[in-house]
Amino acid sequence: MKIIADTHCHTIASGHAYSTLEEMAKVAKERGLYAIAVTDHCLKMGNAPDELHFENLKILPKYIQGVRLLRGVEANVCNYEGDLDLTERISGTVEWVIASMHPQVLDTNLSDPEICTKAWLNIAKNPTVNVIGHSGQEFFRFDYEKVIPEFGRNGKLVEINNSSFKVRPGSRENCKAIAKICKKYSVPIVVNSDSHFSALVGKFDEALDLLNEIDFPEDLVVNANKERFQKYLVSRGIEL
Ligand SMILES: [Zn+2]
Ligand SMILES: [Zn+2]
Repeated sequence: MKIIADTHCHTIASGHAYSTLEEMAKVAKERGLYAIAVTDHCLKMGNAPDELHFENLKILPKYIQGVRLLRGVEANVCNYEGDLDLTERISGTVEWVIASMHPQVLDTNLSDPEICTKAWLNIAKNPTVNVIGHSGQEFFRFDYEKVIPEFGRNGKLVEINNSSFKVRPGSRENCKAIAKICKKYSVPIVVNSDSHFSALVGKFDEALDLLNEIDFPEDLVVNANKERFQKYLVSRGIEL
C-alpha cells in the first residue's frame, strides 16, 4: 500500500515542531506525495499560533514544490461536550480540519470511556471536521463499537497516526482495535505521519504494518490512492 497524501503535519508555527512549510513540502515531493495538509495546532494548545496565522493561510499557493498544500488546522477538543477551539475566522479559511483530544488541553482526570464517547458522538455531527485525530489514545478511550459507525455515517475519516506508536503509550493496541472496527463497519480511514519535523513527512511504516496485520482493505484507506483521495476532496467541496 502506498500512501499518497500526508494530511497531518506540523510546522515551526506549532511552537514544538521544527521545520518550515517549504521544508515539509520539499520532503513530500521527494517521497512522491501528491498532497500534504499543514495542520498546526489550534488556539488552546500552549504554544499555538493565533487566529491571524490561520486566517492568512489564504495567501499560500495551492501547490508548493508541485505538492498540493491543504490549508489545515488541528483543532482541540476543549471539553467533554465535544466543543472545538475553531473560530469563524479560522474555519472560514482552512480546508482541512482534524479534531483531536490532547492531554495538554483536556483534563485527563475527568476522562472516562463514557464521557469520551459522548464527546466523540457530538464531534461526529460537526460538519466542519474531516479527520478524527489520533483516536487510539489510552487517556481518552471510548466505546469504539458505538462511535466509529457514527464517524462513518457522518463522513469523518478515522486517523491511524504513525507518531502515536512512539509518543502515545498504549496506542498500538487501541489503534488495532479501532482499525478492526473500521473494517467491520466499512468506515474509511486516513493514515498520517503527524510529523513535527520534515524528515518524518510521509513516514507511515508502523501504521501500515498494523493495517497489514489485520488485512485491512486498501479501498477504505482514503489517502492510499490519488483518485480516491481527490474524490473525497471533491465530495467536501475542496479544490484539487
Ligand atoms: Zn504537536
Ligand atoms: Zn495531536
